[in-house]
Amino acid sequence: MMRAFDSDKLVIATHNKGKLREIAELLAPYGIEVVSAGDLGFEEPEETEDTFAGNARIKAHFAAKASGLPALSDDSGIMIDALDGAPGVYTADWAETPNGRDFPMAMKKVWDLLEEKNAPEPRTARFCATLCLAWPDGHDEIFEGTIEGRIVWPMRGEHGFGFDPIFLPDGETETFGEMDPARKQAISHRTDAFRQLVSGPFKDLAK
Ligand code: IMP
Repeated sequence: MMRAFDSDKLVIATHNKGKLREIAELLAPYGIEVVSAGDLGFEEPEETEDTFAGNARIKAHFAAKASGLPALSDDSGIMIDALDGAPGVYTADWAETPNGRDFPMAMKKVWDLLEEKNAPEPRTARFCATLCLAWPDGHDEIFEGTIEGRIVWPMRGEHGFGFDPIFLPDGETETFGEMDPARKQAISHRTDAFRQLVSGPFKDLAK
């Protein structure tokens, strides 16, 4: 049976400012006090699994144990069909440089690979997000969300984060980077996963 969430405080187990902003916004109507793993001074655990769920579990359990509070993590990425699902769980790694993460460089790498392969249009892709809600006693619940779309070039838009400027969701005319952040929040992979959290562990929480 799915465990109900009955705490008034929750740790958001991420150091990613873009994710933190979106998750905090999704949680705002529930009146839960949220604090991030970064604010608590926790380090980032190594993501050693090869699935979104595996890495989401590592992050949520690490923060739940360290804080003694329930913790919510997000492991996410973009899967590109013509690249056999890459970068997938390694999306953040593709942006790694000796001086930190460089997403324009990573997006160029993706586009160059698609061009090298002469991948047919549309270059279909999906964003995936797995949320893990973990409790200090080791219990957890997993929620998975996706949004389908395609990779476009050049990069478009200044909103959002990560790979948003090259992802055009199906049925939209603007990339995630161009669209109003509220529109992205209405349709995103993260919101898709969050909807299941709301109808599961958050079901009895007053909004
Ligand atoms: P991780 O979950 O920390 O391994 O990192 C996931 C990576 O996927 C992020 O650093 C972003 O580059 C990318 N990503 C996940 N969700 C989004 C999104 O909503 N927009 C753009 N990029 C995203």
